[in-house]
Amino acid sequence: MRILIDDYFYDWDKAWSMVTRIVSYTNHTVMPEALETWNEDLFRLKLPRMHAIIREINERFCREAWNAFPGNWDRISALSILGHGQVRMANLSVIGSHCVNGVSALHSQILKDQTFKDFYRMYPDRFTNVTNGIAHRRWLCYSNPTLASLIEDCIGDGYRKNPEQLSELAKFADDAEVLDRLRGIKHQNKINFANLLYRKTGQVIDTHSVFDVHIKRLHEYKRQLLNALNIIGLYLQLRDNPDIEMQPQTFIFAAKAAPGYAMAKEIIRLICYISKDIEQHPRIKEKLNVVFLENYNVSMAEALVPSAEISEQISLAGKEASGTGCMKLMMNGALTIGTLDGANVEMQAATGPENMYIFGLTAAEVEQIWLRGYRSTEFYANNEYLSRIVNQLNVGFAGESFANLATYLLSGEHGIADPYLCLADFESYRRTRGEMIRDYADKQKWNRMSLLNVAASGHFAADRSIEEYAQRIWRLQKMTK
Ligand SMILES: *Cc1c(COP(=O)(O)O)cnc(C)c1O
Repeated sequence: MRILIDDYFYDWDKAWSMVTRIVSYTNHTVMPEALETWNEDLFRLKLPRMHAIIREINERFCREAWNAFPGNWDRISALSILGHGQVRMANLSVIGSHCVNGVSALHSQILKDQTFKDFYRMYPDRFTNVTNGIAHRRWLCYSNPTLASLIEDCIGDGYRKNPEQLSELAKFADDAEVLDRLRGIKHQNKINFANLLYRKTGQVIDTHSVFDVHIKRLHEYKRQLLNALNIIGLYLQLRDNPDIEMQPQTFIFAAKAAPGYAMAKEIIRLICYISKDIEQHPRIKEKLNVVFLENYNVSMAEALVPSAEISEQISLAGKEASGTGCMKLMMNGALTIGTLDGANVEMQAATGPENMYIFGLTAAEVEQIWLRGYRSTEFYANNEYLSRIVNQLNVGFAGESFANLATYLLSGEHGIADPYLCLADFESYRRTRGEMIRDYADKQKWNRMSLLNVAASGHFAADRSIEEYAQRIWRLQKMTK
């Protein structure tokens, strides 16, 4: 608006009409810290002209909102760009755009039902969805060349430019030779990663153990802590009896935390100390291994993803906008354990519920729990196995107590206890993951599911996302050579 009015001398209405036809808004998360707000006094001081323009946009918008909701001041002030001394960038973005989209079907629905509910009432046609996708030429053809060549032996290389052709792989779901090659490729990728890990850190992991991979930014809503609680359960079982029959398991975490995010760093510390404790118990280490990799980045992901067998996508339902790690791992033949959150919902629809391990509360059930009131202590008190795990946090690992995390889960030092419902979802998670480990013993079944996941992953290639943006949002014509 500033450029069009001040530099090119358009009148307001013409400039606004241009801006709102040009600009569209993709919302990438519903976490409040990402719905940016600026202090209005600072904004006015530093950007006086921009502030004047935003005020004018807001004046006009509030008049329109008054017509939509006459007399409803509370609603209008919630929709306003300016309020409580803040400039609300998300509201400005909705008001100034011709299209607003979320990045998975569930997330786009939550934008309409909750985050931007009253905007949706004013502008129902503005809201749409474009589910995220990943660069499959990077995450499959380039990073996993042996899997790519198996695929090319089966269905040719057309999938490189038309990723939906991966669905043709499903024809080979009962081809023992193809499944055997798939297993061999996964095993070699595990060896490659284990060698890389050894070169980088000196840590040795058992390549015949199942590789369970939880790689993403460290955040409470992504629930690395829920995974850690389940690991502590396995650890306690092995400490009681190291001879217990158990599928050897290697849990691989990689994550960065934001520098000022104290709880995220505490969770990293917990995982590192569990790992350190296990190092001191060779009998336990035979069956249970935990690795936390520092400095997680795309290069590391490219090495890790091809080796993964279990993909952890266990965010609290309603919180993960889309997730893309889930798609990378699916495309590389890992099986997903996940909640009905973000793109997991559409992955399940694509691959079939029998090829994915879904657990936990749904987004609607989470809403209900908050309305009724959540008491994590009930889950603690009614589950002996879980209470022992939480108690172990007080004792700690490798001589380091994590009583602060027990407090976080049971009483909440600052705010409510267990704000991301780790304890509420624990039992369902533990049971479902147990099922998964039992299925892992049936190699034929596992490899079949793995192949069917790769076959269903074409829909999650970025080519499809970009095509949707180009057609439905940017309204671009295709180039004819
Ligand atoms: C894909 C990717 C992510 C996103 O992972 P999610 O599981 O979707 O949160 C984050 N960091 C790196 C380095 C990635 O490659």
